[in-house]
Order: sequence, then C-alpha cells, then structure tokens
Amino acid sequence: MAVHNQIHNQILRPGNLSELFSLWNRFPNAVPLAGGTELIRSFRSRVKGNYSNSPQEDGGTGACMQSGSAPDSACRVYREQPVLPEEILSLEKIEELRNITRTERYLEIGAMVLLGEIIALGKIVPNAFSLTLQGIAGPLVRNMATIGGNICSGGDTIASLCALDAVLEIRNSGGSRWIPALRFCSMPENLKKCELLTRIRIPLEEWSYTVYRKFSTFGSESPEHSFTAPASDLPVKDADSRDNGGVLILIVQNQKNMLTSINVVFAGDLLLRDKDSESFLEGKALPLDRRDAGHYRKFWEAYLDNLKYPGLLLRDKILNAIEMGIAGLSD
Ligand SMILES: Cc1cc2nc3c(=O)[nH]c(=O)nc-3n(C[C@H](O)[C@H](O)[C@H](O)COP(=O)(O)OP(=O)(O)OC[C@H]3O[C@@H](n4cnc5c(N)ncnc54)[C@H](O)[C@@H]3O)c2cc1C
Repeated sequence: MAVHNQIHNQILRPGNLSELFSLWNRFPNAVPLAGGTELIRSFRSRVKGNYSNSPQEDGGTGACMQSGSAPDSACRVYREQPVLPEEILSLEKIEELRNITRTERYLEIGAMVLLGEIIALGKIVPNAFSLTLQGIAGPLVRNMATIGGNICSGGDTIASLCALDAVLEIRNSGGSRWIPALRFCSMPENLKKCELLTRIRIPLEEWSYTVYRKFSTFGSESPEHSFTAPASDLPVKDADSRDNGGVLILIVQNQKNMLTSINVVFAGDLLLRDKDSESFLEGKALPLDRRDAGHYRKFWEAYLDNLKYPGLLLRDKILNAIEMGIAGLSD
C-alpha cells in the first residue's frame, strides 16, 4: 500500500530490547509497529484534496498522489489514506519477541509471534485460543498480524486469553512485570507511556469442553473472515445497531462426573466475566440438571442488567449462546 504523508515518518528499527528502550527514551512519542495490519487501519483518515487517480498521472502505480497545485486534469476526489504516526518504533528486528517456549505448565509466546504461527503449533495450543485465532480475518492477515498487536488493539484473542487465565509481561526501561490478562484488558489505559507488551504466558490445563462464539457488528455471527468495525464507522440507527460485536468463550474442567471449574468471558466493547455465576456451577454433578442452564442464564441476565450493557440485540445473542453452551453439558 502506498503511504503518502504531509509529514515525514521516521521509522526506528532497534535490534534488541535494550536498544528499543534507549530509542524510546530519545523519541518518547514513537508508536510501536508490529505487523502493521491494525496500526495502518487505525491511523487512516480522510484527507481532502486534489488527487490524480489516473494511471498516467501517478506513473502507472494506481496510487493516489496528492498534488500541490491542482492541475486541471486532477480529479477532485476525497480519498482515504493512511496517515501514520511521525515516529514509528518497528519491532520487526527484535528476535527476543519471537520466541515460543513450552514447559509442562505453560505455553509462553513472544509478542511478535504471528497469529498463523500460533495456529501451526497444533494441539499444544488450548482449543479456545486456537479457535479464536482461526476466526480472525483470513490466512493473509494472520500471517502478518502478531499476537502482541492483537491484544494491544483490543482484538479477538482477549476473551480466550482472559478465560484461560493467561498473564502478560509488560516491560519498560526500568524492568518488567507480569499482569493477569483479565486485569490488563479491563484497564482503559493498560500500557503507560513507553511500555511494551513482550510475552504472553498461557497455563496449559486440560479443558474438557470449549464453546467459542464470535458476534459481528449488528449481532449477526460470522465466525470466519469477519471483522468488527469501530463504532465511529457505523451508521447510527438506534442504540442496538451501534453494538459492536465481540467474542464469547466458555470453558469447563471436570473430574470424573463433577464440574470443577467453568470460565465464561465475553470481550466486546466491555470485558465481562461474572465470577458469581461460575461459583454457582462449580461442584455440580455432570451431566448438569437441565434447569441449571436456565438458572445460569439468569445470573448473566442480572449481571448484564446491572452493567446496562450491551444493547438488546447483542444481549440476547450472548445470553442464548451461554444458555446453549451450558445446555451442552446437560443430558
Ligand atoms: C482485513 C482485516 C481483517 C481483520 N480481522 C480481524 C478480526 O477478525 N479480529 C481481530 O481481532 N482483528 C482483526 N483485524 C485487526 C488486526 O489485524 C489484528 O488485531 C492484528 O492482530 C493486529 O496485529 P498487528 O501485529 O498487525 O498490530 P499493529 O497493527 O502493528 O499494532 C496494533 C496496535 O498495537 C500496538 N502494539 C503492537 N505490538 C505491541 C506491543 N508488543 N506492545 C505494545 N503495543 C503494541 C501498536 O502500537 C498499535 O497501536 C483485521 C485487520 C484486517 C486488515
């Protein structure tokens, strides 16, 4: 994609983390660039002007060139083009961010590992996480986009990482800290200035039952190749039609005939997890009594009513998916 800016972009390319933080010290406004699939989209803006859109005028590239003085032949069109941050901190050359480690207890993934690479790890990847990754865009985007970029841009992986009780490593020039994904993703300003997400650690526990549902904008479901547009891009009709979609994950552990653990997370415009409803089911015999699915739904109804989120359409989709998910554990 051709990128035309009125300002010059400076792309900084540190070779390791210590170089990155010393560059960040000098250029504190530099924005990290991982795969670039979201950064370029989010910085795109409508730039008004006189543009040539004929192959002859732009040297045959088909790119839209901004002209200083509008020649008569220039088409007066409005084009959407990326306006990137002035200083970009490319993470591309930092090998430490591409590591994948597996121990008996967890899978640890560097922030620059591509979504497609994680899927290719196969069975060691917890089912909820793998299904979520497979539901993101198509293979082309998945082989450019990184897990760090997906988390930091509020992408689909958040629900599964929170349900799996993953922890995230955050670094700054002074050191690093680990923070639960659920806490990190619940904070509006989760990264402070000059902080980087470096590693994702996912506990490797046995989950015997997994439900993954992706709701796209306007409440319709399209698990593959769909993308939730930002609210500002949507035509505003009523409160419901402005609901962005989200991802619901329901995972269950059991010991013999007893449900020992259930984690249910919805990540959309808000991150939702109701621990009271989880405790209601823990310790119950499997298969569950059918009435428990209805009771469980009521917990979530009360939880959503309290939050006044989301609108009716998405609310129904979430509640039905939860009820059906629990019903799958009944006889
Ligand atoms: C056609 C298309 C379809 C898509 N479909 C989906 C979809 O279905 N689901 C979905 O979730 N997303 C989707 N996306 C959005 C996007 O591709 C993903 O969220 C992607 O994972 C972002 O990763 P990236 O490496 O490209 O991030 P970038 O674009 O490089 O960065 C995204 C943001 O995160 C910051 N960032 C990146 N890495 C770090 C880090 N390590 N530490 C701190 N900040 C960091 C950047 O500064 C930037 O603000 C789609 C995008 C396209 C173009």
